[in-house]
Amino acid sequence: MAEKAAQKATDTTKASAKATAPAKAGASKTAASAKAGAPKTAASAKAGAPKTAASKSAASKSAASAKTAASTKSAASKASIVWDEEVDLLVAGSGAAAMSAAIAGKDAGLDVLIVESTDKWGGTTAISGGGLWMPGHPLMEKIGKADSIEDALAYMEASIGDVGPASSIERRRAYLETIPEVFRLLERLGMRWNVAKKYPDYYPDMPGGMAGGRSIEAKPYNAKRLGEWFQKSRAAEGGVPLPLLSGETYLITRAWSSFSGFVQGAKLVFRTLGGLITGKKLIGLGGAYAGNLMEIVKKLEIPVRLESPVTKVIKDGDEVVGAEITAPDGTVTRIRARAGVMLGTGGFAHKTEWRQKFHGIPGYSSAPQGDLGTGIQVGIDAGADVALMDDAWWGASMPTPNGGPVFILNERSDPFSIMVDQEGRRFVNESTSYVDVGHAILEHNKHVPTIPCWLIVDRRHRRRYVFNGLLMAKAEDLKAAGIMVEADTIEELAVRLKMDPAVLRATVDRFNGFCKTGVDEDFGRGNTEYDRYYSDPRVKPNPNLGPLEKGPFQAFQIVPGDLGTKGGLLTDEHARVIDTKGKVIPGLYAAGNTTASVMGRTYPGAGATIGPATVFGYLGARHAATRVKGAAQA
Ligand SMILES: Cc1cc2nc3c(=O)[nH]c(=O)nc-3n(C[C@H](O)[C@H](O)[C@H](O)COP(=O)(O)OP(=O)(O)OC[C@H]3O[C@@H](n4cnc5c(N)ncnc54)[C@H](O)[C@@H]3O)c2cc1C
Repeated sequence: MAEKAAQKATDTTKASAKATAPAKAGASKTAASAKAGAPKTAASAKAGAPKTAASKSAASKSAASAKTAASTKSAASKASIVWDEEVDLLVAGSGAAAMSAAIAGKDAGLDVLIVESTDKWGGTTAISGGGLWMPGHPLMEKIGKADSIEDALAYMEASIGDVGPASSIERRRAYLETIPEVFRLLERLGMRWNVAKKYPDYYPDMPGGMAGGRSIEAKPYNAKRLGEWFQKSRAAEGGVPLPLLSGETYLITRAWSSFSGFVQGAKLVFRTLGGLITGKKLIGLGGAYAGNLMEIVKKLEIPVRLESPVTKVIKDGDEVVGAEITAPDGTVTRIRARAGVMLGTGGFAHKTEWRQKFHGIPGYSSAPQGDLGTGIQVGIDAGADVALMDDAWWGASMPTPNGGPVFILNERSDPFSIMVDQEGRRFVNESTSYVDVGHAILEHNKHVPTIPCWLIVDRRHRRRYVFNGLLMAKAEDLKAAGIMVEADTIEELAVRLKMDPAVLRATVDRFNGFCKTGVDEDFGRGNTEYDRYYSDPRVKPNPNLGPLEKGPFQAFQIVPGDLGTKGGLLTDEHARVIDTKGKVIPGLYAAGNTTASVMGRTYPGAGATIGPATVFGYLGARHAATRVKGAAQA
């Protein structure tokens, strides 16, 4: 029944896409006239419709929509710009920020269009862990936890500190205060939420920190509800095809070495089989969240166009009034956006030039290829200011010979493992949050070669815990590429890693001593609830500290990987883009990794990127809606 409804929604969307077909014809005209070298001014002069006509179209939304369908060109207010199409809110991108904005805009009565640059929708969101850090979300009470905006603010202050306007008090407050609204809107429209009860904040001991409950995610989602459209998602291409919940992965990583892990693994198997038996294609994590959002987008009949990057915003004076979309064949479509343009275009993980310039490395990102910084560039071209460009959602990743890097999480936190620099010395608490590990690699590399560094594990580690890198790449290939190195003794391993055997031996001996006492005197590994999230409770006295005693020992190359970048356009509490003079650029909004993150240089909790992407997408769209209403009232 529900599948039929979704199919119907897909068909209706197709129908509404057809209705805009004449506008496409207009688009090719634009390209044709551009080819013919028609000067813009001449074209503009032609389209110089009186201001009153445009005001009317802004005042009456239904009239405006009718106009969009019927005519291919119209004039914008104040300026003589030739438009190929008109909408209220033009949303660039199709990840969490963009889909949230589109849904909120449509729910507020706006005529919305989503344009995605690549041939796949969903962005990094669709291949992510799918967690949203949402302090004070409405399910908190149900799980018997009390949270408050003041506690969450105190925690953000303690963990983020002062990083400038990207994480101003106004933005933090707007984020926290809007969470219940966003949660309820999406739930009302069909999102099925789950709480990751045991996923602690990443600094649970800081003021206002919590040891679990603030992170939520979508329940496993039946991808068949999207019909063929699912095949066009990043999740179909690169997501985890299992109904996994992020809140249970910590147990799955020790599925064959602990009872609780085994039980959780069995539950996952039954859930997967249950889905198959009932004819469902259940997916979890980011695929479930993006799929759920897309189902809502379809239900609301919001058209989505792939291979349609926003390449420029069009300004009328200081105000953004529309944007240009450049198709793969070079055709430019000018779309008027009466309420505004929302850039939910991700970050610049794969823009090597910027990675070198701002990060000093080419980048080893797990984000998909569409993360090219084009939306940030569009904002900069429109006069926007940027911040935090030198930062990213860092982590530790293992390179692979034939694919992208694999993000290493439980592997470095579980016992019987250490990370060492190229001289063979530890330099970080291996169990700390990924952003902190990434920062530590980059910082330590300034003094001692640490890119790459090495994760060294003993035999028990490999026997007991899931090692994602070895699910993604074959051990022989990794060995042939020098990414994985094996030896029976620590000294032999040191020789193979071109380290002084005495140094590595001393490092291991000292670490093994900490394992006996349970206290890591150098880096405090295992001291917090977060460290212990990925650990082995059977290992005593400290579940993160297991000695490296039993060979063969294996070493895996580690580079400063990332889940995407976190620097970008500066925005305010309404997701409005700020220019280099500190003023709002009217009509231009941005959210998600296109913006300088409200989380500053840190990662306060699981879902600290998708949470704000979703909330600021919503806030921007809601603000944009007031602009159209304002015009109507005027
Ligand atoms: C393996 C992995 C696991 C992760 N797990 C989590 C997690 O559990 N929780 C969490 O909070 N974060 C997680 N992250 C990070 C998180 O996925 C991203 O930070 C977040 O999804 C970014 O959302 P977004 O909407 O800003 O961008 P995206 O989801 O990347 O969407 C941006 C979209 O815009 C498109 N685009 C780019 N340029 C243009 C243009 N000019 N015009 C139109 N479209 C354009 C892109 O192709 C893309 O589809 C994870 C990341 C990875 C890689």
